[in-house]
Amino acid sequence: MSTSSEPQFRAGFIGQGPHEAADFAVGAPITGSLQPLSIATPADAGFTSTSQPTRPQLRVCVLGSGSGGNSTVIMLGERGMLIDAGFGPRTTRHRLLSARVPLDAIEAICVTHFDRDHFRPTWISTMLQQRIRLLVHAWHEDELYHVPGGTRLIDAGLVTIIGSDGCEPLPGISATCIRLPHDHKGTTAFHLESEFGSIGFATDLGCVPPALIERFIGVDLLAIECNYDPEMQRRSSRPLSLKRRIMGKAGHLSNRQAFEAVRQIVDRSPPGQPQKIVLLHRSRQCNCPHLVQSVFDEDPRIGPYVIQTDQRRRTPWITVTPGARPMKQLGLF
Ligand SMILES: [Zn+2]
Repeated sequence: MSTSSEPQFRAGFIGQGPHEAADFAVGAPITGSLQPLSIATPADAGFTSTSQPTRPQLRVCVLGSGSGGNSTVIMLGERGMLIDAGFGPRTTRHRLLSARVPLDAIEAICVTHFDRDHFRPTWISTMLQQRIRLLVHAWHEDELYHVPGGTRLIDAGLVTIIGSDGCEPLPGISATCIRLPHDHKGTTAFHLESEFGSIGFATDLGCVPPALIERFIGVDLLAIECNYDPEMQRRSSRPLSLKRRIMGKAGHLSNRQAFEAVRQIVDRSPPGQPQKIVLLHRSRQCNCPHLVQSVFDEDPRIGPYVIQTDQRRRTPWITVTPGARPMKQLGLF
């Protein structure tokens, strides 16, 4: 018997027809299924649903992830924030609506770094119109001046520079940052905490600093980059310089590097945590979901709880709750 009060759905297309996917419920075994774009179920986002629970839920949906764009929406109740805005406002609005969230629910955007696949300058006018705040760590502050329109956000008082004390992207959610090696400027990992659950989020990193492992111990949801398969990378037609950059210490994480990082976090976390592991930024040219899954399946504490993301479509909603997976799921290993 399940100990969860939520319905226990297996991820993927269930019951309601070939194009309708359920949310990832707490502790449900999950293997790489994705929500088709522009389809939403009543059980999906629940943003305007009359069944909205009085206690707010912390929920996550990766709107898309890859070298062509990255954006993840995090909702606490009906208030929303994005980590990265690597799709333009129109695409983002479309994917949000498919998840039953209006764009005007978004109050803040936390940016990992300013590469175009993580922040599109086309967002500036939308942010000004809708008074959406930009939260960026101090080590990326100078880059903001080089983003077209970036100074308009600063002048409008919409930029929060994150220091060592962290920040509060939404009321009830606090965030601290870890600096990661990536190209010249590095990137920012976020550790989000609330009474409704915690999230560790790290993408675009060439290697995993011990401080990241340390900070992500005990998170309820772990989202980490899992970019390439080394063999596919080597055999690809990409220029040698690009391969070297990607596979270098300031590039991206391979499947095995991501897996080893997850395993270290799992080893040092209470049993059943993290409840879910979301894999970001998979290369379309130099990786494939089956290879990724085969690596993560090496550890039965990890493989069944992996959710793979995709560039072209969003994931179902993932509900985050504090603590370990229900006992039934713990019994799996
Ligand atoms: Zn990227």
